[in-house]
Amino acid sequence: MSIQSAVEQVQKNYAHQPEFIQAVQEVAMTIEQVYADNPKFAELKVFERLCEPDRIISFRVNWENDKGEVQVNRGWRVQFSNAIGPYKGGLRFHPTVNEGVLKFLGFEQIFKNALTGLPMGGGKGGSDFDPKGKSDAEIRRFCYAFMRELHKNIGKDMDVPAGDIGVGGREVNYMFAMYKNLTREYEGVLTGKGVGFGGSLIRTEATGYGLVYFLDNMLKANNDSLTGKTVLVSGAGNVAQYAAEKALQLGGKVITFSDSQGTLHDADGFTQEKIDWVKAQKDARKPLSDYVSVFGGEWLAGEKPWKFTADIALPCATQNEVNEDEARQMVANGIKYVAEGANMPLTAEAIDVVRDNGIAYAPGKAANAGGVAVSGLEMSQNSVRQYKSFAELDEKLQNIMKNIHDNSRAAAEKYGTTKGTIDYMTGANVAGFTQVANALVAYGIL
Ligand code: NDP
Repeated sequence: MSIQSAVEQVQKNYAHQPEFIQAVQEVAMTIEQVYADNPKFAELKVFERLCEPDRIISFRVNWENDKGEVQVNRGWRVQFSNAIGPYKGGLRFHPTVNEGVLKFLGFEQIFKNALTGLPMGGGKGGSDFDPKGKSDAEIRRFCYAFMRELHKNIGKDMDVPAGDIGVGGREVNYMFAMYKNLTREYEGVLTGKGVGFGGSLIRTEATGYGLVYFLDNMLKANNDSLTGKTVLVSGAGNVAQYAAEKALQLGGKVITFSDSQGTLHDADGFTQEKIDWVKAQKDARKPLSDYVSVFGGEWLAGEKPWKFTADIALPCATQNEVNEDEARQMVANGIKYVAEGANMPLTAEAIDVVRDNGIAYAPGKAANAGGVAVSGLEMSQNSVRQYKSFAELDEKLQNIMKNIHDNSRAAAEKYGTTKGTIDYMTGANVAGFTQVANALVAYGIL
């Protein structure tokens, strides 16, 4: 069976899971040469095997709202591949979550985790629970109820979830408390825990900071730097906030944030004081649009940030948030670098536009791997029960992002197809896939 027929099989079996098909197609189109160079991959049907998760656990979550009414949600854990380490990947709580979305995220996670150089397999989970508008007590009851089921299928050497959209430190802490209560084990079963009871310093900042460290390496590869560059950030959550902060620290001028309600534009650039305001406002689940009455700028209801002229775009909200027309807008507005903070924020058509127009493009599985990398470091710290300082972990994060960049670049030089720019998409896919594929070949047919 060729790579193409594996893709056709996925299209046939999972026609109702468009995001998963999109993620599989993107990897498939970049690994044909490496497959041809390694006949064992085809013989052992490595890619075909990686397109099917090891297993998917699905369950019902009953909980009570503040009015005492019974609520029912769906929960999942996709254990995709533990070829190179325990299943590892976040939990997402959002009404758009379904099995196909979690499969796309889990599939991406396999290769992302391999790129970090740390021993982590790929997984993802979550629920269609909507945290918006819920009280703290409701969030707590939901997290407890979710873990009441999930705990049966996770463990420090088996499967180690973390946060994602709708799941931050508060939710991880509630879930960890329930795991500990049910199992009587105090172990590193979740990452992103509070510092002081198992959590790692810099985990909160890691994805956003790591994204900008990757970007910095991209710029250096082009004899360029962040100093004086104008940056568009989408999203206003964890990844967006810390990407903006690090971009500012390295000399960039960030002029947008966005959320599901619209875009905030500040032509003067977000200072640390303004970014802190955005963090506090989002944490308090209050509207981003209030910014205008405090600092000025403009609020564009229902719009995205891509209409503004800038040098760099960092999409940090969600999947498929940049379509073909918006990618054309980026090209017209002078964007030279796109680095993905979110997972798969560009549609396949948008990726084509960006790559065809000579924009340096870093896919999420390379550029946003800093979060899971520090989660990997949290797992090690939990195992040895010793905790590193912020500065030590920041240095490790910078080294990991540089290695991901350099390994992706080296693979791009061998297998890349774009002209004039480094083909990070092919490079990251080839580097991540090869590592996992070699493990599967070594294991035989299991
Ligand atoms: P958060 O929940 O902290 O923030 C998400 C942000 O994106 C919010 O501003 C939210 O707006 C916006 N958003 C979510 N869904 C939509 C939508 N359908 N349309 C428009 N805006 C939307 O999540 P994170 O910052 O943690 O995650 C953002 C992205 O980064 C995701 O793709 C995630 O998978 C990826 N990622 C996260 C990592 C992490 O460590 N957290 C690691 C690697 C990748 P609103 O507030 O209005 O809902």
